[in-house]
Amino acid sequence: MITKKIEEAIESLNNNNLVAIPTETVYGLAGNAFNEKAVEKIFALKERPLHNPLIVHIKSYEYLEEVAKDIPKVAIDLAKSFWPGPLTLVLNKKDIVPDIVTAGKDTVAIRVPNHPLTLEVLENLDFPLAAPSANPFSTISPTTTEHVESYFGNNLEVILEGGTCEKGIESTIIGFEDEYPIIYRLGSLSIEEIENRIGKVYTKNKNDVSPAAPGMLSRHYAPKTEMVLIDEPKSKLKYFPNKNVGVLSFKDQLKSLHPDDQEVLSKAGDLNEAAKNLYAAMHRLDSKGFDVILAERFPSAGIGKTINDKLERATKKEEKLESEVELIKDLEKDIIINTVFPGIIP
Ligand code: AMP
Ligand code: MG
Repeated sequence: MITKKIEEAIESLNNNNLVAIPTETVYGLAGNAFNEKAVEKIFALKERPLHNPLIVHIKSYEYLEEVAKDIPKVAIDLAKSFWPGPLTLVLNKKDIVPDIVTAGKDTVAIRVPNHPLTLEVLENLDFPLAAPSANPFSTISPTTTEHVESYFGNNLEVILEGGTCEKGIESTIIGFEDEYPIIYRLGSLSIEEIENRIGKVYTKNKNDVSPAAPGMLSRHYAPKTEMVLIDEPKSKLKYFPNKNVGVLSFKDQLKSLHPDDQEVLSKAGDLNEAAKNLYAAMHRLDSKGFDVILAERFPSAGIGKTINDKLERATKKEEKLESEVELIKDLEKDIIINTVFPGIIP
Protein backbone atom coordinates (compact mmCIF):
# COMPACT_ATOMS: atom_id res chain seq x y z
CA MET A 1 0.00 0.00 0.00
CA ILE A 2 1.23 3.49 -0.86
CA THR A 3 1.25 5.70 2.25
CA LYS A 4 2.67 9.00 3.44
CA LYS A 5 2.76 7.90 7.09
CA ILE A 6 6.32 7.41 8.23
CA GLU A 7 5.10 5.78 11.48
CA GLU A 8 3.83 2.84 9.41
CA ALA A 9 7.21 2.52 7.74
CA ILE A 10 9.04 2.67 11.07
CA GLU A 11 6.76 0.04 12.63
CA SER A 12 7.16 -2.35 9.72
CA LEU A 13 10.93 -2.01 9.72
CA ASN A 14 11.07 -2.58 13.50
CA ASN A 15 9.11 -5.80 12.88
CA ASN A 16 11.79 -6.84 10.36
CA ASN A 17 9.39 -6.44 7.46
CA LEU A 18 10.20 -4.67 4.19
CA VAL A 19 9.32 -1.12 3.21
CA ALA A 20 9.81 0.70 -0.10
CA ILE A 21 11.62 3.95 0.71
CA PRO A 22 12.07 7.08 -1.39
CA THR A 23 15.62 8.24 -2.06
CA GLU A 24 17.06 10.86 -4.39
CA THR A 25 18.36 8.09 -6.70
CA VAL A 26 15.59 5.44 -7.05
CA TYR A 27 13.10 3.82 -4.67
CA GLY A 28 14.73 1.27 -2.35
CA LEU A 29 13.44 -2.02 -0.98
CA ALA A 30 14.52 -1.63 2.63
CA GLY A 31 14.91 -3.92 5.62
CA ASN A 32 16.83 -4.02 8.90
CA ALA A 33 20.45 -4.42 7.80
CA PHE A 34 21.36 -6.07 11.12
CA ASN A 35 18.68 -8.76 10.87
CA GLU A 36 19.35 -11.74 8.61
CA LYS A 37 15.68 -12.67 8.31
CA ALA A 38 14.78 -9.18 7.10
CA VAL A 39 17.63 -9.21 4.59
CA GLU A 40 16.61 -12.68 3.36
CA LYS A 41 13.17 -11.23 2.60
CA ILE A 42 14.78 -8.59 0.36
CA PHE A 43 16.61 -11.19 -1.74
CA ALA A 44 13.48 -13.36 -1.91
CA LEU A 45 11.07 -10.61 -2.97
CA LYS A 46 13.48 -9.21 -5.57
CA GLU A 47 14.55 -12.68 -6.72
CA ARG A 48 18.05 -11.32 -6.48
CA PRO A 49 20.96 -13.80 -6.49
CA LEU A 50 22.58 -14.08 -3.05
CA HIS A 51 26.02 -13.31 -4.49
CA ASN A 52 24.94 -9.76 -5.28
CA PRO A 53 25.62 -7.61 -2.16
CA LEU A 54 23.33 -4.84 -0.89
CA ILE A 55 23.98 -1.20 -0.05
CA VAL A 56 23.63 -0.26 3.63
CA HIS A 57 21.89 3.09 4.18
CA ILE A 58 22.96 4.95 7.31
CA LYS A 59 21.48 8.09 8.86
CA SER A 60 24.58 10.27 8.82
CA TYR A 61 28.32 10.44 8.34
CA GLU A 62 28.74 10.17 12.13
CA TYR A 63 27.29 6.63 12.03
CA LEU A 64 29.89 5.37 9.54
CA GLU A 65 32.24 3.83 12.09
CA GLU A 66 29.41 1.67 13.47
CA VAL A 67 29.55 -0.42 10.30
CA ALA A 68 32.97 0.20 8.69
CA LYS A 69 36.63 0.08 9.77
CA ASP A 70 40.08 1.01 8.36
CA ILE A 71 38.47 3.94 6.57
CA PRO A 72 40.93 5.65 4.17
CA LYS A 73 41.34 9.43 4.51
CA VAL A 74 40.08 10.01 1.00
CA ALA A 75 36.88 8.10 1.85
CA ILE A 76 36.27 10.44 4.76
CA ASP A 77 36.82 13.40 2.45
CA LEU A 78 34.33 11.96 -0.08
CA ALA A 79 31.73 11.14 2.58
CA LYS A 80 31.95 14.63 4.08
CA SER A 81 31.71 16.24 0.65
CA PHE A 82 28.85 14.25 -0.85
CA TRP A 83 26.69 12.81 1.97
CA PRO A 84 23.77 12.85 2.15
CA GLY A 85 23.91 12.15 -1.57
CA PRO A 86 24.21 9.65 -4.44
CA LEU A 87 27.65 8.28 -3.53
CA THR A 88 28.21 4.75 -2.15
CA LEU A 89 31.52 3.87 -0.53
CA VAL A 90 32.77 0.28 -0.32
CA LEU A 91 34.76 -0.11 2.92
CA ASN A 92 36.01 -2.88 5.22
CA LYS A 93 33.06 -4.09 7.26
CA LYS A 94 32.62 -4.50 10.97
CA ASP A 95 31.31 -7.84 12.31
CA ILE A 96 27.93 -6.32 13.17
CA VAL A 97 27.05 -6.35 9.43
CA PRO A 98 25.72 -9.85 8.61
CA ASP A 99 27.43 -11.79 5.81
CA ILE A 100 24.21 -12.05 3.84
CA VAL A 101 24.25 -8.26 3.31
CA THR A 102 27.72 -8.30 1.78
CA ALA A 103 27.43 -11.66 0.00
CA GLY A 104 30.17 -12.99 2.26
CA LYS A 105 32.65 -10.25 1.40
CA ASP A 106 34.78 -8.45 4.00
CA THR A 107 33.65 -5.14 2.55
CA VAL A 108 30.33 -3.34 2.84
CA ALA A 109 28.78 -0.73 0.54
CA ILE A 110 27.47 2.29 2.48
CA ARG A 111 25.73 5.58 1.80
CA VAL A 112 23.57 8.30 3.38
CA PRO A 113 20.52 8.82 1.14
CA ASN A 114 19.36 12.36 0.51
CA HIS A 115 15.61 12.30 1.02
CA PRO A 116 13.93 14.01 4.00
CA LEU A 117 11.39 11.22 4.65
CA THR A 118 13.93 8.42 4.56
CA LEU A 119 16.36 10.40 6.71
CA GLU A 120 13.54 10.85 9.23
CA VAL A 121 12.81 7.11 9.15
CA LEU A 122 16.51 6.35 9.72
CA GLU A 123 16.64 8.84 12.62
CA ASN A 124 13.90 6.83 14.31
CA LEU A 125 15.52 3.41 13.92
CA ASP A 126 18.27 1.72 15.96
CA PHE A 127 19.68 0.07 12.86
CA PRO A 128 20.68 1.00 9.29
CA LEU A 129 18.71 -0.16 6.25
CA ALA A 130 19.90 -2.62 3.65
CA ALA A 131 18.22 -1.52 0.44
CA PRO A 132 18.66 -2.43 -3.22
CA SER A 133 16.37 -0.84 -5.77
CA ALA A 134 12.68 -1.77 -5.32
CA ASN A 135 12.27 -3.79 -8.51
CA PRO A 136 12.59 -7.45 -9.45
CA PHE A 137 16.18 -8.40 -10.30
CA SER A 138 17.46 -6.95 -13.59
CA THR A 139 14.30 -4.98 -14.46
CA ILE A 140 14.01 -1.17 -14.79
CA SER A 141 14.53 0.63 -11.47
CA PRO A 142 11.53 2.48 -9.97
CA THR A 143 11.49 6.27 -9.66
CA THR A 144 7.86 6.61 -8.46
CA THR A 145 5.69 4.71 -5.96
CA GLU A 146 3.48 3.63 -8.87
CA HIS A 147 6.43 1.80 -10.41
CA VAL A 148 7.04 0.00 -7.10
CA GLU A 149 3.38 -0.90 -6.72
CA SER A 150 3.20 -2.23 -10.27
CA TYR A 151 6.13 -4.55 -9.51
CA PHE A 152 5.18 -5.83 -6.07
CA GLY A 153 1.49 -5.01 -5.53
CA ASN A 154 0.20 -6.56 -2.33
CA ASN A 155 3.46 -8.33 -1.57
CA LEU A 156 4.72 -5.09 -0.08
CA GLU A 157 2.71 -3.70 2.83
CA VAL A 158 4.30 -0.28 3.03
CA ILE A 159 5.38 1.86 0.08
CA LEU A 160 6.39 5.24 1.46
CA GLU A 161 5.30 8.07 -0.84
CA GLY A 162 8.15 10.53 -1.36
CA GLY A 163 7.44 11.90 -4.85
CA THR A 164 9.46 11.35 -8.02
CA CYS A 165 13.12 10.62 -7.33
CA GLU A 166 15.16 13.79 -7.82
CA LYS A 167 18.23 12.21 -9.48
CA GLY A 168 16.50 9.22 -11.06
CA ILE A 169 19.61 7.04 -11.46
CA GLU A 170 21.43 4.81 -8.95
CA SER A 171 24.32 6.02 -6.77
CA THR A 172 27.92 6.10 -7.96
CA ILE A 173 29.93 3.37 -6.22
CA ILE A 174 33.55 3.92 -5.18
CA GLY A 175 35.80 1.26 -3.68
CA PHE A 176 39.40 1.53 -2.46
CA GLU A 177 42.33 -0.59 -3.53
CA ASP A 178 45.47 0.15 -1.49
CA GLU A 179 43.55 3.18 -0.24
CA TYR A 180 43.28 4.42 -3.82
CA PRO A 181 39.71 5.33 -4.91
CA ILE A 182 38.25 3.42 -7.85
CA ILE A 183 34.84 3.90 -9.45
CA TYR A 184 33.06 0.52 -9.52
CA ARG A 185 29.76 1.76 -10.89
CA LEU A 186 28.86 4.95 -12.74
CA GLY A 187 25.88 6.65 -11.13
CA SER A 188 24.19 9.96 -10.56
CA LEU A 189 27.24 11.63 -9.04
CA SER A 190 29.39 12.39 -12.09
CA ILE A 191 33.07 11.50 -12.39
CA GLU A 192 33.76 15.21 -12.96
CA GLU A 193 32.20 16.17 -9.61
CA ILE A 194 34.25 13.51 -7.84
CA GLU A 195 37.49 14.48 -9.59
CA ASN A 196 36.94 18.17 -8.79
CA ARG A 197 37.06 17.15 -5.15
CA ILE A 198 39.79 14.48 -4.95
CA GLY A 199 41.65 14.58 -8.27
CA LYS A 200 41.90 11.89 -10.94
CA VAL A 201 40.09 8.63 -10.23
CA TYR A 202 40.30 5.36 -12.10
CA THR A 203 37.10 3.78 -13.43
CA LYS A 204 36.95 0.01 -13.65
CA ASN A 205 35.79 -0.96 -17.09
CA LYS A 206 33.08 -3.53 -17.63
CA ASN A 207 35.50 -6.39 -18.07
CA ASP A 208 37.61 -5.99 -14.98
CA VAL A 209 34.92 -4.85 -12.54
CA SER A 210 33.51 -8.30 -11.81
CA PRO A 211 35.43 -9.57 -8.78
CA ALA A 212 35.37 -6.21 -6.99
CA ALA A 213 31.72 -5.38 -7.55
CA PRO A 214 29.73 -8.53 -8.15
CA GLY A 215 26.49 -8.13 -10.01
CA MET A 216 27.83 -5.38 -12.23
CA LEU A 217 28.32 -7.41 -15.38
CA SER A 218 24.83 -8.64 -15.98
CA ARG A 219 22.21 -7.26 -18.28
CA HIS A 220 20.45 -4.79 -16.06
CA TYR A 221 17.80 -2.06 -15.93
CA ALA A 222 16.19 -3.83 -18.83
CA PRO A 223 12.77 -3.32 -20.41
CA LYS A 224 10.89 -6.40 -21.62
CA THR A 225 10.77 -4.91 -25.12
CA GLU A 226 13.83 -5.32 -27.28
CA MET A 227 15.87 -2.12 -27.11
CA VAL A 228 18.71 -1.00 -29.38
CA LEU A 229 21.20 1.77 -28.59
CA ILE A 230 22.16 3.87 -31.60
CA ASP A 231 23.74 7.21 -32.41
CA GLU A 232 20.95 8.78 -34.39
CA PRO A 233 17.47 7.21 -34.26
CA LYS A 234 16.18 9.58 -36.93
CA SER A 235 18.33 8.18 -39.70
CA LYS A 236 17.84 4.56 -38.55
CA LEU A 237 14.03 4.42 -38.59
CA LYS A 238 14.12 3.26 -42.21
CA TYR A 239 15.72 -0.01 -41.13
CA PHE A 240 12.50 -1.01 -39.34
CA PRO A 241 9.86 -0.53 -42.07
CA ASN A 242 7.45 -3.19 -40.86
CA LYS A 243 8.01 -2.79 -37.16
CA ASN A 244 6.12 -0.95 -34.49
CA VAL A 245 8.94 1.30 -33.26
CA GLY A 246 9.25 3.43 -30.12
CA VAL A 247 12.02 6.00 -29.72
CA LEU A 248 13.82 7.26 -26.61
CA SER A 249 15.77 10.41 -27.39
CA PHE A 250 17.73 13.08 -25.58
CA LYS A 251 16.29 16.40 -26.73
CA ASP A 252 14.78 16.26 -30.21
CA GLN A 253 11.37 14.95 -31.15
CA LEU A 254 11.29 13.10 -34.48
CA LYS A 255 8.88 14.58 -37.02
CA SER A 256 8.64 11.27 -38.86
CA LEU A 257 7.16 9.44 -35.85
CA HIS A 258 3.93 9.99 -33.90
CA PRO A 259 4.60 11.95 -30.67
CA ASP A 260 2.92 9.15 -28.63
CA ASP A 261 5.55 6.73 -29.88
CA GLN A 262 8.50 8.67 -28.52
CA GLU A 263 9.92 9.94 -25.26
CA VAL A 264 12.12 13.04 -25.25
CA LEU A 265 14.09 13.12 -22.00
CA SER A 266 14.94 16.82 -21.91
CA LYS A 267 13.72 19.30 -24.51
CA ALA A 268 16.17 21.82 -23.02
CA GLY A 269 19.08 19.42 -23.54
CA ASP A 270 19.78 19.23 -19.80
CA LEU A 271 21.55 15.96 -18.90
CA ASN A 272 20.38 16.03 -15.26
CA GLU A 273 16.77 16.43 -16.35
CA ALA A 274 17.26 13.57 -18.83
CA ALA A 275 18.64 11.33 -16.05
CA LYS A 276 15.69 12.13 -13.83
CA ASN A 277 13.24 11.19 -16.59
CA LEU A 278 15.09 8.16 -17.97
CA TYR A 279 13.57 5.22 -16.08
CA ALA A 280 9.99 6.57 -16.09
CA ALA A 281 10.26 7.01 -19.87
CA MET A 282 11.59 3.46 -20.23
CA HIS A 283 8.68 2.17 -18.11
CA ARG A 284 6.18 4.02 -20.34
CA LEU A 285 7.72 2.87 -23.62
CA ASP A 286 7.93 -0.70 -22.31
CA SER A 287 4.20 -0.74 -21.54
CA LYS A 288 3.20 0.20 -25.10
CA GLY A 289 3.90 -3.11 -26.79
CA PHE A 290 6.44 -1.90 -29.39
CA ASP A 291 8.40 -4.46 -31.40
CA VAL A 292 11.56 -2.50 -30.72
CA ILE A 293 12.67 0.63 -28.85
CA LEU A 294 15.45 2.70 -30.41
CA ALA A 295 17.41 4.56 -27.73
CA GLU A 296 19.65 7.45 -28.67
CA ARG A 297 23.23 7.43 -27.40
CA PHE A 298 24.00 10.43 -25.16
CA PRO A 299 26.93 12.86 -25.28
CA SER A 300 29.70 11.20 -23.29
CA ALA A 301 30.21 13.90 -20.64
CA GLY A 302 29.10 14.31 -17.05
CA ILE A 303 25.99 12.34 -16.26
CA GLY A 304 25.70 11.50 -19.99
CA LYS A 305 28.36 8.81 -19.44
CA THR A 306 26.20 7.25 -16.74
CA ILE A 307 23.08 7.36 -18.91
CA ASN A 308 24.97 5.60 -21.73
CA ASP A 309 26.19 2.97 -19.27
CA LYS A 310 22.61 2.28 -18.11
CA LEU A 311 21.36 2.17 -21.71
CA GLU A 312 24.14 -0.22 -22.68
CA ARG A 313 23.17 -2.58 -19.87
CA ALA A 314 19.50 -2.26 -20.77
CA THR A 315 20.22 -3.21 -24.37
CA LYS A 316 22.74 -5.93 -23.62
CA LYS A 317 21.74 -9.35 -24.90
CA GLU A 318 23.19 -12.77 -24.25
CA GLU A 319 23.07 -13.27 -27.97
CA LYS A 320 22.29 -10.63 -30.51
CA LEU A 321 18.64 -10.65 -31.50
CA GLU A 322 17.73 -11.24 -35.10
CA SER A 323 16.69 -7.68 -35.88
CA GLU A 324 19.84 -6.36 -34.27
CA VAL A 325 21.91 -8.59 -36.51
CA GLU A 326 19.85 -7.37 -39.46
CA LEU A 327 20.35 -3.79 -38.37
CA ILE A 328 24.10 -4.22 -38.18
CA LYS A 329 24.16 -5.94 -41.61
CA ASP A 330 22.08 -3.10 -43.04
CA LEU A 331 24.28 -0.48 -41.47
CA GLU A 332 27.34 -2.17 -42.96
CA LYS A 333 25.64 -2.24 -46.33
CA ASP A 334 24.78 1.42 -45.90
CA ILE A 335 28.39 2.26 -45.18
CA ILE A 336 29.65 0.23 -48.16
CA ILE A 337 27.08 1.62 -50.59
CA ASN A 338 27.55 5.15 -49.36
CA THR A 339 31.29 4.85 -49.60
CA VAL A 340 31.29 3.32 -53.07
CA PHE A 341 28.24 5.15 -54.42
CA PRO A 342 27.85 8.19 -52.21
CA GLY A 343 24.38 9.67 -52.02
CA ILE A 344 22.54 6.56 -53.21
CA ILE A 345 20.69 6.11 -49.92
CA PRO A 346 18.46 9.06 -49.07
P1 AMP B 1 21.87 -2.06 -6.12
O1 AMP B 1 21.52 -2.25 -4.70
O2 AMP B 1 21.03 -2.87 -7.05
O3 AMP B 1 21.99 -0.63 -6.51
O4 AMP B 1 23.32 -2.71 -6.29
C1 AMP B 1 24.29 -2.56 -5.35
C2 AMP B 1 25.58 -2.86 -6.01
O5 AMP B 1 26.61 -2.42 -5.14
C3 AMP B 1 25.87 -4.33 -6.22
O6 AMP B 1 25.37 -4.81 -7.41
C4 AMP B 1 27.39 -4.38 -6.19
O7 AMP B 1 27.89 -4.22 -7.48
C5 AMP B 1 27.76 -3.18 -5.34
N1 AMP B 1 28.24 -3.61 -4.03
C6 AMP B 1 27.52 -3.78 -2.92
N2 AMP B 1 28.28 -4.21 -1.91
C7 AMP B 1 29.52 -4.33 -2.40
C8 AMP B 1 30.77 -4.74 -1.85
N3 AMP B 1 30.90 -5.14 -0.61
N4 AMP B 1 31.83 -4.72 -2.67
C9 AMP B 1 31.72 -4.31 -3.93
N5 AMP B 1 30.57 -3.92 -4.50
C10 AMP B 1 29.49 -3.93 -3.76
MG1 MG C 1 19.15 -2.39 -8.67
